[in-house]
Amino acid sequence: METTTHSGATTLPPRITQTLIDRLTAMVIAGTAGEQREAYEMIEVYTGAVVGELPQSSPEDVAAAAATARAAQREWAARPVSERLAVFERAHELILAELETIADLIQIGCGKIRRMAIEESCDPPMVISHYLKTAERTLKPIRRGGAMPIITTSTEQHRPKGVVAVIAPWNFPFAIAMSDSIPALIAGNGVVLKPDNKTALCTLFGVELLQRAGLPQGLVQVVCGSGPDVGPTLIENSDYVMFTGSTATGRTIGELAGRNLIGCSLELGGKNPMIVLDDADLDEVIPSTVFAVYGNSGQACMHIERIYVHERLHDEFLRRFVAAAEALGAKAGAAYDYEPEFGSLVSVDHMERVAAHVEDARGKGATVLTGGKARPDLGPAFYEPTVLTGVTSDMAHATMETFGPVVTVYRYTDEEDAIRQANATTYGLNASVWSRNLARANRIADRLEAGNININDGFVASYSAKATPSGGVKQSGVGTRHGAAGLLKYTDTVNIGVQKKQVLAARAAMPYAKQLKSTRVTLRWMRRLRIR
Ligand code: NAD
Repeated sequence: METTTHSGATTLPPRITQTLIDRLTAMVIAGTAGEQREAYEMIEVYTGAVVGELPQSSPEDVAAAAATARAAQREWAARPVSERLAVFERAHELILAELETIADLIQIGCGKIRRMAIEESCDPPMVISHYLKTAERTLKPIRRGGAMPIITTSTEQHRPKGVVAVIAPWNFPFAIAMSDSIPALIAGNGVVLKPDNKTALCTLFGVELLQRAGLPQGLVQVVCGSGPDVGPTLIENSDYVMFTGSTATGRTIGELAGRNLIGCSLELGGKNPMIVLDDADLDEVIPSTVFAVYGNSGQACMHIERIYVHERLHDEFLRRFVAAAEALGAKAGAAYDYEPEFGSLVSVDHMERVAAHVEDARGKGATVLTGGKARPDLGPAFYEPTVLTGVTSDMAHATMETFGPVVTVYRYTDEEDAIRQANATTYGLNASVWSRNLARANRIADRLEAGNININDGFVASYSAKATPSGGVKQSGVGTRHGAAGLLKYTDTVNIGVQKKQVLAARAAMPYAKQLKSTRVTLRWMRRLRIR
């Protein structure tokens, strides 16, 4: 195992050379115009050591990037969908060929374990696969009958919006940046992509792979900078914004989009509940819940932070779950191989925020059954898998997204009460329900207020289904990704109506009484003939 220490020196795998880092950072649109911004020092999370300087874009750079993408987009949009898809057919293979370098770059910026970095790298190929199968059909114009059959027709046409701003977070920096840009590009748009500074390297490599696959130069532009500095100019110069991040930032993005009268898709935070019914099979629940809570070190938007267990199973669940969390914590480590099973948090700042939620709960009377401590011996931002009980509504962790390896287990007696508690949140991203009886689990799922509901699973079943739109309800988001909706949102729907003969206007010249009678007769016939 390639072990690492946080001694100040990087421990990068041999694939990651200075030449590669320099080539990737040179792709950022920065220094073209406006006041120069100081470069951002990117670090290897495992060691805290600096791996390179990321140029920062000025608002003028962002405007220039959008203009370049717009110029390239006209030619791209004019190509048939099949020709655009051919680029992604090649990109699919290139991503698979480069999985290991992608995973290295993800791990450097995120500190997640190798297995999770590889799984993350597989998301864009899955999205590409889905749209290779379906995009031509979804984007095809649909000719419909008009108000007067045969004489009038109406065609629904989907045109690319123009330039799409894709703003991505750090937790799945390759998957989200790529998988949200790909359908925008397939639909015929240009993209200006803004990754998080901490995790920009893997995103830049993804864009390089798309270019190697044949994407026209200039069509995807990458800008980097602090959100408040580059965000407003980015949105002013775009025709649509695809944002993934916190609910607080999503609100700002939504306001900016509204001011510019452009559409937006907002994929935001969650406080996701799991309900374990009295007939659930704990042999299946426990390992799956360990992943649902601690996968990506708890930094997944759909991960579980609240577990409601029926009193019949509660004590056994707690005993086995705490043991499993401890076993996972024992396999924590920093390495670019498959040995560690639990990784770092993304930064010391974020780790301190997670720790503050646990300390707040502990200070107000919650019990920390396991975890609740940083692990500086493993790396600067490691924090143990943590299980809490006795969390009450006055504690931050009860209602706010902790976004770390921390979960609270609650006991319930009455199913109605469990459903009520699961829904007692302003968020609505994901919910999970466990039972051996699928019909019973489905009845509960119907009453859970979330955009994704997973039966006998934490979150993988719904998120991996690329044909079905996925998004949040309540304050977890606006709009969806995946499926036909995840492609059509990047288009304007245009209605092209045709009157082969001027029959509709002719009625305007009739005397009033005759026109009224004719209108009634026509509408009755339309109803009888089921013309819409
Ligand atoms: P964040 O909101 O702080 O940042 C997200 C991105 O927005 C970053 O690139 C950031 O630089 C940028 N940004 C910040 N302010 C901006 C502004 N004013 N204008 C333009 N861009 C701005 O979120 P984060 O901490 O990076 O990510 C974690 C959050 O993301 C969690 O709440 C998590 O639940 C959520 N998330 C949601 C999904 C989903 O699909 N629903 C997926 C992953 C993460």
